[in-house]
Amino acid sequence: MVSPADVEKLRGMRAPGPAVLSLYLPVPPGPAGVRGLAARAEDLMAGAGAGSPAGAGTARAGHADRDAVLGALAAHRPDWPGRTVAFFACQQLGLFEALPLPCVLPGRAVLAARPHVRPLLAVIQRCPDYLVAITNGRHARVLSVSGNRVETVASQSGQGPPGHGFGRWYGLETRRLQQRIIPLGPHHYRDVAAILARAAGAGPRMPLVIGGRHDSITGLLQELPPAAREAVAGSFTAGPHALTPARVRELAAPVVEGWVARREQELAGQILGGLAAVGLHASLAAVNQGVAGHLLVAHEGMIAGYVCGGCGALSTGSFECPDCGTAARMVPDLLEEMVQRTLDDNGPVTMIRDASFSVAARLRFPVTEGESATTGGGR
Ligand SMILES: [Zn+2]
Repeated sequence: MVSPADVEKLRGMRAPGPAVLSLYLPVPPGPAGVRGLAARAEDLMAGAGAGSPAGAGTARAGHADRDAVLGALAAHRPDWPGRTVAFFACQQLGLFEALPLPCVLPGRAVLAARPHVRPLLAVIQRCPDYLVAITNGRHARVLSVSGNRVETVASQSGQGPPGHGFGRWYGLETRRLQQRIIPLGPHHYRDVAAILARAAGAGPRMPLVIGGRHDSITGLLQELPPAAREAVAGSFTAGPHALTPARVRELAAPVVEGWVARREQELAGQILGGLAAVGLHASLAAVNQGVAGHLLVAHEGMIAGYVCGGCGALSTGSFECPDCGTAARMVPDLLEEMVQRTLDDNGPVTMIRDASFSVAARLRFPVTEGESATTGGGR
């Protein structure tokens, strides 16, 4: 699956001009849609940059990069039904990546000096890896879910044959948890709680979903130490014996989705409640002045704009920069530029949905020169 390290690696790639091709391609689930897939990919790539103010075309995208994408598509398409695949190609930089993503995203192609990573960040935030603890009075197991991979990381032993091929459903290894079956004793709430607490303490926190009978969920929650309890995203009730790995994922995924959406709204509330820039122009001013402490991006589409060739100031207009008198050059997506600048300054970036603004930023300091900093509202 895609990790923050993948994003950082891509962010380290930079070409002297708009020579890096980024393509996000949804692969249809059935064989019918697959037939037109190469044509769809070609259309997206051909359209990259079209409609932008400067009228940049794909002429600068090497045929080699397009051919590499189409070649990978022909070779790996059967592995990707129902997935969105992100391609990054730049022959000049020796870059070619094809990353199948855990979420479905709309198709998009971008030609820019750097890989276009904003959708990748959204995927990492919206489709996190998570743990599911399934428990009832006699049985318990802990599963890890990463994209469409589901693996058992612990199961109760000594209770007769396990239900559904515990352990190696897909024969793939998890990144964060060792793939071994941990036997659980009679005090299994406590044992499961201990496993979850250890998982909560190891590396980036993974959300936790609890499934099972209502009383068992309550029983496990009571045994959880505070750190693990904070990671609980929610629960679902189900009879544990009927749960296949695919069914566990089906039941747990909406719980995690709801948790992600709630956290987005909480974060937006916190940021807008403090010193914040709200809306494109105020946020551009904040980023240009290096005072954006945490960027919230709500607008999914791209907003074409300009960057000063001298000082790097971002703007919506192509006028000459008042500070350095240099003509600005076109960039396909100001929001991507703002994301990159904020990450470069070690500021967090969060993609959110259902917001009343396109982009907003928590400010480290007030924006100067009468630019519009607000403490709420705006668009
Ligand atoms: Zn300038």
